[in-house]
Amino acid sequence: MMTATAYEAVIGLEIHAQLRTRTKMFCACELSFGDEPNVHTCPVCLAHPGALPVTNAEAVRLAVIAGHALGCEIATHSTFHRKNYFYPDLPKAYQISQFDEPICGPGRFRFLTPDGEKELGITRAHLEEDAAKLIHVGGDGRRAGAEQSIVDFNRGGTPLLEIVTEPELSDPADASAFLRQLRLTLVQLGITDGNMEEGSLRCDANISIRPVGETTLGTKTELKNMNSFTFIERGITAEIARQTAIVAGGGAVTQETLHYDPTTGEIHSLRSKEEAHDYRYFPEPDLVALAPDPAWVADLKAGLPELPVDRRRRWVADLGLTDEDAEVLAETRELGDYFERVAAVAPPKSAANWVRGELRAQLREHDQEPWQSHVTPERLAEIIAMVEAREVSMPNAKAVLADVIADGGDPRAIVEAKGLGAMNDEGELEALVDKLIAENAAQVEQLRAGKDKVIGFFVGQAMKATQGRADPGRVGELLRQKVLG
Ligand SMILES: [Zn+2]
Repeated sequence: MMTATAYEAVIGLEIHAQLRTRTKMFCACELSFGDEPNVHTCPVCLAHPGALPVTNAEAVRLAVIAGHALGCEIATHSTFHRKNYFYPDLPKAYQISQFDEPICGPGRFRFLTPDGEKELGITRAHLEEDAAKLIHVGGDGRRAGAEQSIVDFNRGGTPLLEIVTEPELSDPADASAFLRQLRLTLVQLGITDGNMEEGSLRCDANISIRPVGETTLGTKTELKNMNSFTFIERGITAEIARQTAIVAGGGAVTQETLHYDPTTGEIHSLRSKEEAHDYRYFPEPDLVALAPDPAWVADLKAGLPELPVDRRRRWVADLGLTDEDAEVLAETRELGDYFERVAAVAPPKSAANWVRGELRAQLREHDQEPWQSHVTPERLAEIIAMVEAREVSMPNAKAVLADVIADGGDPRAIVEAKGLGAMNDEGELEALVDKLIAENAAQVEQLRAGKDKVIGFFVGQAMKATQGRADPGRVGELLRQKVLG
């Protein structure tokens, strides 16, 4: 009897991150997105004869910092190569890239998934320049069917860091999770702005399948230029399904470059894949080799802040945050720093709830971030302390927060000046509940009949009568005691 063969996927990723430098990789032209075409150009990036490139030192610095974050070895000797191909977006007819001596060597990068922390091997990370941008006019904006194609050289020569991973992944969801963690890390370190829609971070995936248990790799295809986490996961999933159907049907996968169309979910062939020797790589004679000073490289490593993956793990392990709290608060370095300052002077779990909940919700209406607002970590901690000591009710605490956001000021002083302190006199609270019971006979009957929801009505009345000073929980308790016994 025949049994169906089970296949597993083998996935490797190539990520192009645009480096956050002021100028291009090999000339002094400014980098900017969305300017009028062809205003940021010079003889170097337009490939005029005799113009000589000079390596951007800041790009090298950012590449070394990225290398440290990726756990890579940093080369002591690293060279540039010419990668030859002919295309209108490449005026020199070669791209300056790196070949056998990349700036960053093997490393490992840890990332978080719903199943916990995982690791992916990094093969290398190297510096190169981006091509110019082709704009296809007429037709539907694609090259095929266009009336003409025009070139904007503003992007030509933009510094890129290409990060290549080992083919160690088998689950498309892990590819997406890895990329999220990588983007977060590179953005927080100031290496790239990570804007995927504008193309500052692009991902290609190399995909093959093989029968489970097989150790040699199958023929791979390359899925190009995916620009969202969702599309990456869907695109890889679709390509695995396509290859599995071919192989299960007795066919063979062809090595080619593919495009995933997120609107139709279909995969199209772009071209048959080039081999490295098609590019006729040879050493770039116009640039000196990079020889980073080991002391400088070590300094950059020592100056590396705690990585987002480590920060999240520490918050969960040491501060008792949930994974979800930690994920939200680690979204930006500034938000994480702000949270840490609150958590240093308030119970961390409450600090997390307030920062990601009420504080961010109120500040959103003012278009402010916590660290730019009047709500210093100390002021927020004071509000939290008053709530936890039951000195102020939750609704009034939110009102105090609104006051601090508007005008600054000391939360405790605001509570006193406005008489917002919690009504902690048990006798006073009982008298209020008695009064509400006497005045609302119909609702009391409903409560007796088991309609628990009506408690909300009484709490509302109590808050109204006390300008929010009553403790909603205590009002409910007293009401139940008095009405239900
Ligand atoms: Zn230039």
